[in-house]
Amino acid sequence: MTITVASGKGGSGKTMVTASLAALLAQEQPVTLLDLDVEEPNLHLFFDLPVRREGPVWSMIPDIDEERCTHCGVCSSICEFNALLVLEEQVLVFPELCKGCRGCAVLCPEGAVGDGRKMIGTLETRQGGAMTLHSGRLRVSETAAPALIRAVKERAGASEPVVICDAPPGTSCSAVEAVRDADFVILVGEATPLGLHDLELMVRTVRQLERPYGVVINKAVPQDRSVHAFCASESIEVLGIIPHSRAIAQACAQGRRIPEALPATYTVFEHILRAALRREVTAV
Ligand code: SF4
Ligand code: SF4
Repeated sequence: MTITVASGKGGSGKTMVTASLAALLAQEQPVTLLDLDVEEPNLHLFFDLPVRREGPVWSMIPDIDEERCTHCGVCSSICEFNALLVLEEQVLVFPELCKGCRGCAVLCPEGAVGDGRKMIGTLETRQGGAMTLHSGRLRVSETAAPALIRAVKERAGASEPVVICDAPPGTSCSAVEAVRDADFVILVGEATPLGLHDLELMVRTVRQLERPYGVVINKAVPQDRSVHAFCASESIEVLGIIPHSRAIAQACAQGRRIPEALPATYTVFEHILRAALRREVTAV
């Protein structure tokens, strides 16, 4: 089973929730964690796990055979990412823009596009006790985050009993890649006007992807009930409410898992975890 923790915006507490749920579950059974926030992986900061394996991740880039190429322009016209420019006597490839989709290779009428490769980032595996954590780290200036996210997900294997993923923030193609095959999505929404706006976008995204989901309201304050009201009006189940608290912020900044650092919060995280494991489905 794959549980993916996502949020519409950065700083909403997504990684804190992921680490806390994983720590609870690891008390009972082996847990595999995937840090899919490859542009800013920081889940490992919550765990003191030694790196067991580390290596580069490669992605395809076009390797143009100028002998065969007729400069017809098909490849550049189908490339959504403007990674190719066909000139009269040359095809220019911009590797940092290429997402490795292979569309140009498939559609080139002359078979002139071969498979080159570029390093898009690294993949690290940490392991200790019941916990295995795979993290991707995107190379600086690289844009092929979805390809690296796929590589991290492939590390998990199909036989893992429970996989908990920390998705990238937002609703970009990286976030979609992270949540699109989750068995259950936990959306962490911050109880602020901006948090509500981004949560609404994320709810639309998971509904389009037809993933079951529930919401965790983080940094909740009595004077702002807008996220509660939104969830009630949309029949979305609120899995847990985490209060706005200096103690939680401090523990989080120190890389401590919240249910262990602050036992009073244990019940909240326990409820979120059980609900996700039961795949309690709200509106899809
Ligand atoms: S589609 Fe093939 S033949 Fe046409 S310009 Fe691109 S590489 Fe050259
Ligand atoms: S592999 Fe895809 S993204 Fe890269 S140049 Fe070809 S069509 Fe564009």
